[in-house]
Amino acid sequence: MDNIKIIVAGPRGRMGSEALRLIERTEHFELVAAVDIKFAGKRVSDIEGLPKFDAPVYDDIEQCFQEVHADVLIDLTTPEVGKKHTELAVEYGVRPVVGTTGFNENELEALRKRAEEKGIGVIIAPNFAVGAILMMKFAQMAAKYFPDVEIIEQHHDQKLDAPSGTAIKTAEMIQKVRESKGQGHPDEQETIVGSRGGNMDGMRIHSVRLPGLVAHQEVLFGGEGQTLTIRHDSINRVSFMSGVQLAVETVMKLDLLVYGLENIME
Ligand code: NAP
Repeated sequence: MDNIKIIVAGPRGRMGSEALRLIERTEHFELVAAVDIKFAGKRVSDIEGLPKFDAPVYDDIEQCFQEVHADVLIDLTTPEVGKKHTELAVEYGVRPVVGTTGFNENELEALRKRAEEKGIGVIIAPNFAVGAILMMKFAQMAAKYFPDVEIIEQHHDQKLDAPSGTAIKTAEMIQKVRESKGQGHPDEQETIVGSRGGNMDGMRIHSVRLPGLVAHQEVLFGGEGQTLTIRHDSINRVSFMSGVQLAVETVMKLDLLVYGLENIME
């Protein structure tokens, strides 16, 4: 099997640096360039604390796509930057594996159409942790029997979007099996605005942001005389890397856009 040639955007980040370590220990993965705003013109090996790859660093992703032959872009930057990078990658025929969230339905639809026109694989995964995907699937199973549900997601305080893509995805999966319903007392009033969390089809979503947290989610179900809690914790960012590896390997075989790791897990 030929090596899969990879560009990583956001290599100094907590996720991006783990992705570099994944590439370093995976025999058929090869880092061909990185995209970073602070180290343009240098080599990845010049950046302290990262694996010693002799690969160029660009700040302009289009220039990177023009000068370096790559199969896959792993984007682990920010929601806004990730969107722009994903669109450009598709135009340049580089298959994006995207961990940033924040794509709306229209943006996803436009990307889906463009990926099909170009016959190129795209994987956008709001959560690369295999355990988190199972948590969502188990929550969807439980919601058939327990339609009253609240989601509490907890992340580190540097996270830019709320609620998390995983919380939204969980609510969407539950929506597919649960009759639409309002929850709580019909006359309830918030003394402090936001106390009851975000409202998605009656399900309440609460976002906690604290230093020290990584990525955690509880899905709480309430029924007559019983509650059920399904919980997943990512304790560190290594937890996401088996999903990133699966996505890179799978995107090479796709000619369309896939949203969500659950759609490529058997
Ligand atoms: P982080 O530590 O803040 O890393 C983000 C990196 O992106 C930083 O090094 C930042 O550089 C860089 N960056 C920002 N704009 C850029 C640009 N235009 N070009 C190149 N690099 C740029 O964040 P993180 O915790 O690693 O998370 C990264 C992303 O992955 C976030 O969107 C997060 O929500 C997402 N995430 C996804 C999963 C998943 O499973 N799908 C899991 C965890 C996190 P500076 O430091 O110079 O700003």
